[in-house]
Amino acid sequence: MIEGMPPPLIALTSRTVLLRATSRDRLTETLPRPYVDEIVRAGGLPVLVPNLDDAAPAEEFLERVDGLLLTGGDDVDPALFHEPPHPGIEKVDGRRDRFEIALARAAFDRAIPVFGVCRGIQLLNIAFGGDIYQDLVTQAEAPIGHAQRTIGDGPWHEVKIEPNTRLAAVAGDEPWSVNSYHHQACRRIGKGLVVSAVSADGLVEAIEGEGPGYLLGVQWHPEISAAAGDDRSRRLFESFVKAARERAAAASK
Ligand code: MN
Repeated sequence: MIEGMPPPLIALTSRTVLLRATSRDRLTETLPRPYVDEIVRAGGLPVLVPNLDDAAPAEEFLERVDGLLLTGGDDVDPALFHEPPHPGIEKVDGRRDRFEIALARAAFDRAIPVFGVCRGIQLLNIAFGGDIYQDLVTQAEAPIGHAQRTIGDGPWHEVKIEPNTRLAAVAGDEPWSVNSYHHQACRRIGKGLVVSAVSADGLVEAIEGEGPGYLLGVQWHPEISAAAGDDRSRRLFESFVKAARERAAAASK
């Protein structure tokens, strides 16, 4: 805690779903509770960002927050990386995609810490000019299977962490058993990003910015493993909120 400073304000992106409300279904902005819990546990103040039709206010949001967490969700619109839809693609929400990419770019331009989880790592990669497998099962050699079938939320596969990366500095470079709930994954890595973890079958499981700013994406769900008591997953949220607090302190000088 930096003396006299309020907790850093962390913007969390949301998923728009049809939800039963009173007598009929309504479009509703949703945010899984474990993200909220981990940001609060790490000392941040979470705020939900709805998916706006117009991407321009992304700039306004980033003028007012200290960190951006790109949360998990559905598949990403392949138009964003100039591909026609693959037959295996599932549900997409182009409005959310466009708004989140604008948020990611606005955050990067302001050196505001960004943490991408699952779909969030894919969004980050696309925001930096990379692309993704639209349908892992048919497009990639990934024999582990990355849509885990265990009962409960335990780990599903190991990742190898690249030494001398931000991820290694936060969580160490020992192999890490992580969960895996993804239908898509990073393919060509965007400019200015480096790979910081890969699965045993060679998929990119974490990326980060080359520069000094906090820019990190992981393909697994650390908010789920953190809730289950995994210390390394908690450290990811702690390092992100710490970076946001430092950014806020630097900006207030
Ligand atoms: Mn995986």
